[in-house]
Amino acid sequence: MKNDKSFRSWFNDFEHNQPLVIAGPCSAETEEQVLATARQLKNAGVSVLRAGIWKPRTRPGGFEGVGVIGLKWLQKAKSETGLLLATEVATKAHVELAIEHDIDVLWIGARTAVNPFAVQEIADALKDTDKIILLKNPVNPDLSLWIGGLERLHNANIKKLGVIHRGFSTYEKTKYRNNPEWQIAIEMQSRFPDLPMICDPSHITGNRNMIQQISQQALDLNYNGLMIEAHINPDEAWSDAAQQVTPERLKEILRSLKVRKKTDEDFDYNSSLAKLRTKIDDIDEKLIEIIGKRMLIAKEVGILKKDKNVAILQTERWQEILDKLVVLGNEKGLSQEFISHFFKAIHQESIYHQEKIINTPAKEN
Ligand code: PEP
Ligand code: MN
Repeated sequence: MKNDKSFRSWFNDFEHNQPLVIAGPCSAETEEQVLATARQLKNAGVSVLRAGIWKPRTRPGGFEGVGVIGLKWLQKAKSETGLLLATEVATKAHVELAIEHDIDVLWIGARTAVNPFAVQEIADALKDTDKIILLKNPVNPDLSLWIGGLERLHNANIKKLGVIHRGFSTYEKTKYRNNPEWQIAIEMQSRFPDLPMICDPSHITGNRNMIQQISQQALDLNYNGLMIEAHINPDEAWSDAAQQVTPERLKEILRSLKVRKKTDEDFDYNSSLAKLRTKIDDIDEKLIEIIGKRMLIAKEVGILKKDKNVAILQTERWQEILDKLVVLGNEKGLSQEFISHFFKAIHQESIYHQEKIINTPAKEN
């Protein structure tokens, strides 16, 4: 599947390198709400109207979507405004109904994307379709699972495939509803450079005040589009009220976003960039060399500890080092989060090397 050119080509035909904007309510609620939202979104520069018809809710008892009647409201909105339509599908029956009602973009939600049986069922129902199919990331930060879902769809000969990054669940509370874990989406981009990637800042943030910032961040990272929840009366929305924006606010957000070019032909720009990149490559090589040296010392520590039968992990010392490094890092403008990730990884590697030494019989060392 690697670097399948057909991924980007369908997208280019569709959007001419402008970010694709899919917007609309979390859920279709009433005919009036769907039609009024569609009219206002058309005016805001949106190309695809989204609305959930069947809502996967974390716990039972909440609003679970209006069902098929909502598809008829969407069809009406399409014939009035010309907007394309997008909805979430989670079963074979959803797929069949969505296709029957002229839906143009079908997306697979984060809770469905975790289940290979469900994704396979949807892929089989979609076999050979020329509809646009977007796969959201699974709720858990598992790149292989996300790619696996993509492969199931690709194997069903679906040509117009793309992915939606909507963030990942974490047990610890963060300022996000779903932690972005940008590195996972970036890894997806570098494995499949031709696969259109859309950001869903609404489900990442869970908060309408952060939509603009995350959207800009996505465009800075070369994303191809945005899926943003918009509602004519966000505070009264039947689902995801806190993260929805009015179509008017959406228009402002879209106007404020800067679309970055992939590259530029200018000679001075390219030669300056090449020089800076050489410096970075040079520093990266030095970093590897220094980390390698650090590991050699860790091995010597391992030999000493082995000799005295002392445990590898010394929690207090490790915490002391980390605290000191966070302060030092802060002085250089490095975030606490980065320092802690970086040194935890180094520490882990160090433990790995020491364990090898401690568990190898003396004569093999
Ligand atoms: C949605 O788009 O409204 C939705 C349910 O999203 P997710 O699958 O990302 O939670
Ligand atoms: Mn939602």
